[in-house]
Amino acid sequence: MGKKTVVLSVKTNAHNEMIDITASVENAISATGITDGFCMVYVPHTTAGVTINENADPSVRRDILSALKHIVPDNLNYTHMEGNSTGHIKASLMGSSVTIGITDGKLVLGTWQGIFFCEFDGPRQRKAVVSFW
Ligand code: ZN
Repeated sequence: MGKKTVVLSVKTNAHNEMIDITASVENAISATGITDGFCMVYVPHTTAGVTINENADPSVRRDILSALKHIVPDNLNYTHMEGNSTGHIKASLMGSSVTIGITDGKLVLGTWQGIFFCEFDGPRQRKAVVSFW
């Protein structure tokens, strides 16, 4: 089977936010009909990223955002004129893609794992590009 790509629309609602997009990625697998292979979720933005972490307890994503705020403080002497340097730095810390196996038409994720779109300069209309092979 050839490579396929699905573009997900992600509407973010806060300046910093982690949105669980696992179900949308799984729906995209169904749409392609792929049963075994890989998918890469790629975020084509400079102030947003993607990561895999716990989606059972929402306090985990709150703690990640809280820790990122400490790691990347708002009050450093940033030089980037657009004023969103913290968003750029947090996006690089999270990364812009994750690759996940697919077996029997399902994502190979651990029981407590989910895929999170990470917004660091919202709210905005965003995209996540899911490529399958
Ligand atoms: Zn910028």
